Amino acid sequence: MRIDVATLFPDMCEAVLSESIIGRARKTEKIEVHCHQIREYTLDKHRRVDDTPYGGGMGMVMQADPIYRCFNAVAAMAEEKPHVIYMSPKGAVFTQQKAVELSKMPRLFVLCGHYEGVDQRVLDRIVDEEISIGDYVLTGGELPAMVMIDAVARMCPGVLAADECFEEESHFGGLLEYPHYTKPEIWEGEAVPPVLLTGHHKNIAAFRHEKAVEITKERRPDMYQKYVQNIKMDKK
Ligand code: SAM
Repeated sequence: MRIDVATLFPDMCEAVLSESIIGRARKTEKIEVHCHQIREYTLDKHRRVDDTPYGGGMGMVMQADPIYRCFNAVAAMAEEKPHVIYMSPKGAVFTQQKAVELSKMPRLFVLCGHYEGVDQRVLDRIVDEEISIGDYVLTGGELPAMVMIDAVARMCPGVLAADECFEEESHFGGLLEYPHYTKPEIWEGEAVPPVLLTGHHKNIAAFRHEKAVEITKERRPDMYQKYVQNIKMDKK
């Protein structure tokens, strides 16, 4: 998969995307990520990319032209047409299901807004979908883009050590994950649940499933309801 990020702060994105699992996946070419400075695509001699809003009001708006020129130049860098995402608090809220869906696409172009947002005309021209990372407003689209890219990239083949790493995780199968334990066997007088020491895979799986259901029911009744409904549907 190839991901292109259009931003006014490429160093901020590179700092995040060069570290840890995503950084390693880039180095080993499991995924390709490129960050593009939108300012490089302006024709303005002062490299200006924003202006005051028509109709008045507070703040500045990112201009359509530098973004459109950036998109066209970047789209021409590879064969597949990129799926274009604008990070926006007005978008559909990002979920694990969306991360899985996006991880199957060959190419993403992610636009990070700033200031009051982006001229609507370029959004109408190039954007396939708007995605929000939650019902709150941040100063820019860079952190939301990093959150989304991290979640998408770790679903791509070869990025994590094994598929099980995410298949049992919270949200993947409609449940929150079971609790984890590691050495020592007794810490501050608290012992690890005995079943985990038995080596009996079936019993361990049953215990973990039971805990996952319990935690989901307690913390996310909305998810639990859906989980119960799906079981009923499967039985029909
Ligand atoms: N005026 C806009 C509004 O009320 O919808 C908010 C603009 S915000 C200050 C600047 C940029 O940050 C947005 O263009 C978007 O790219 C990004 N952003 C802010 N909050 C976000 C969120 N929850 N999810 C995704 N992107 C967000």
